[in-house]
Amino acid sequence: MNKGEIGMAEFKSISLPRLNNLKPNIESTALKLMEEAGELAQLIGKFRGLNGEECKMEEQEVVDKIADELLDVAQVAISMMFVLEECYSMNIENKVVTHIEKLKRKGYIK
Ligand SMILES: [Mg+2]
Repeated sequence: MNKGEIGMAEFKSISLPRLNNLKPNIESTALKLMEEAGELAQLIGKFRGLNGEECKMEEQEVVDKIADELLDVAQVAISMMFVLEECYSMNIENKVVTHIEKLKRKGYIK
């Protein structure tokens, strides 16, 4: 990635492992992604008190759990990328380039 092309945008890079104890496929990872997104949404709902319960956890404790669930989502997304690469010959690096171009085109980054 040419930094000049991305202007002032800040990047966060995280590195997550390929899970080598599972045989994931598109369906299983997609289902898991929705499951983990649901857990994240549930926690955020709890955080905001949207489920009618009073939030008993300390705010920082809830934010900590939100971060845990967010990483679960990221892990499953990464697992699905491995599936796309391995089973369908997708080049995720190329996809990242077009993804960044899309963000620029939509005005999300300049
Ligand atoms: Mg989870």
